[in-house]
Amino acid sequence: MSLLNDKTCCWINDLSPRLDIKVLSEDKNCDWLIVGAGYTGLSAARKLSQLHPSQKIILVDAQLAGEGASGRNSGYLVDTTLNDGFTSNKDFSNYKKKTNIYKLGIESIKKFIKKYKVDCDWNESGKYFASSRLEDKKILINFSNILNRLDFEHELYNQGNLKEKLGTSFYKSALYTKGGILIHPGKLVRAMVDVLSDNVELYENSQLLEWKKDNDKVLCKFENFNITTRKIIFCTNGFLKSLGIKTNYNFPLTLTASMTRPLSDNEFKSIGEPKEWGVLPVRPMGATIRMTKNRRILIRNTAEVYNPFKMSETELKKRSINQKTGIKKRFPELPNDIIDCTWSGIVSRTRNSSQIFDKIDKNIFVAGCYNGSGIGVGTLFGEQIAIKANNEHTREIETIESRNKPTWLPPQPFLDLGVKARLIFERSRAESEI
Ligand SMILES: Cc1cc2nc3c(=O)[nH]c(=O)nc-3n(C[C@H](O)[C@H](O)[C@H](O)COP(=O)(O)OP(=O)(O)OC[C@H]3O[C@@H](n4cnc5c(N)ncnc54)[C@H](O)[C@@H]3O)c2cc1C
Repeated sequence: MSLLNDKTCCWINDLSPRLDIKVLSEDKNCDWLIVGAGYTGLSAARKLSQLHPSQKIILVDAQLAGEGASGRNSGYLVDTTLNDGFTSNKDFSNYKKKTNIYKLGIESIKKFIKKYKVDCDWNESGKYFASSRLEDKKILINFSNILNRLDFEHELYNQGNLKEKLGTSFYKSALYTKGGILIHPGKLVRAMVDVLSDNVELYENSQLLEWKKDNDKVLCKFENFNITTRKIIFCTNGFLKSLGIKTNYNFPLTLTASMTRPLSDNEFKSIGEPKEWGVLPVRPMGATIRMTKNRRILIRNTAEVYNPFKMSETELKKRSINQKTGIKKRFPELPNDIIDCTWSGIVSRTRNSSQIFDKIDKNIFVAGCYNGSGIGVGTLFGEQIAIKANNEHTREIETIESRNKPTWLPPQPFLDLGVKARLIFERSRAESEI
């Protein structure tokens, strides 16, 4: 397994390299161990360090902090989502609970960036759920009815409006929600690394291999050294299952994305100089596609069962061809070879799209599984799991815990077979949208 960052992700390559990286190099004892330094683990560490300035807090990550999914996602801070089964009114109350959580997630990020004066290319541009198939308009109208009931400001668009907004005639209908926010995910998570206070020791390229309870302590084994901790919080998201946590309730999926170089003035003019925008697909396996602040096009159009931390270069190249086609069919006027980088990342899914937020044993806590919407929710869950582990209660915890728990998943090999079959089915339904 390659532990260092693979330098394939444009968002991460935008950041200056970090110079202060420490690897676990001796046995340690601590009051708190947090495993995983993405939005969730970094937010848990930040909150704990405020709650316990004099206790010893250790944060570990198998790779570089923030350079897993948190630094390599598509950067949609979502107010609403369409693609996890909530296209009818029958799940209305659960959908409402889900958007209540998104709202708290957005508030957490807003507070964070305000407090630490973070520049993460924040743009309250809203977002589109769009389709090239006229028949998908029915889904959007149904979704619009749900959003009306929940008072989400939104608008339905047709092809003509969309060409003007997005610079492509590919989409025939769309629903625009005003509350979606676009960010630079790498800048956001890097800020979370930078603001860690002195009472958090961060060890990177330090992978937790095994852990076990030993009376009131938890013993954690790394490659050459051990950490013994009083309390532990697991924030490893797509890797929860590999650590034996909630194994029947979550599973990882690997996504790949590509980003173009910035478009030249002429190229940008040829597509009508649109403002920054973000499109999410109406059909679950369709492409997420975004015009960034500096005129790059990002496309994410694969989701698959694939195990390693990072995909090999050869495998990434195959996905990149697919992504080049996706860009070309939306922007035929642009040159062929404008993709600058292609990368993979892991998300964690549950069967019913509920997240995991739990005490799994005395002094052992876990937060994760955001089903592809983890920027705001991960930050919220990280902060709140730290508070829960501190035996306190908040209105945020009440909102999080009022949602249905993740439902049970079958064991292997049935799980992989089922997931693969579902992905093939969804992919065939979304063929035109990839
Ligand atoms: C391509 C892509 C696009 C996405 N788009 C969006 C989007 O637009 N909007 C959105 O909200 N979300 C999106 N997501 C999902 C979002 O990125 C995740 O939900 C979020 O980053 C989860 O944060 P996290 O901190 O829980 O997990 P992660 O960022 O995955 O962090 C977990 C960390 O745990 C570490 N780890 C794992 N195992 C171990 C171990 N044994 N020992 C030590 N450390 C370990 C990993 O190295 C990793 O750094 C996307 C994800 C991907 C991959």
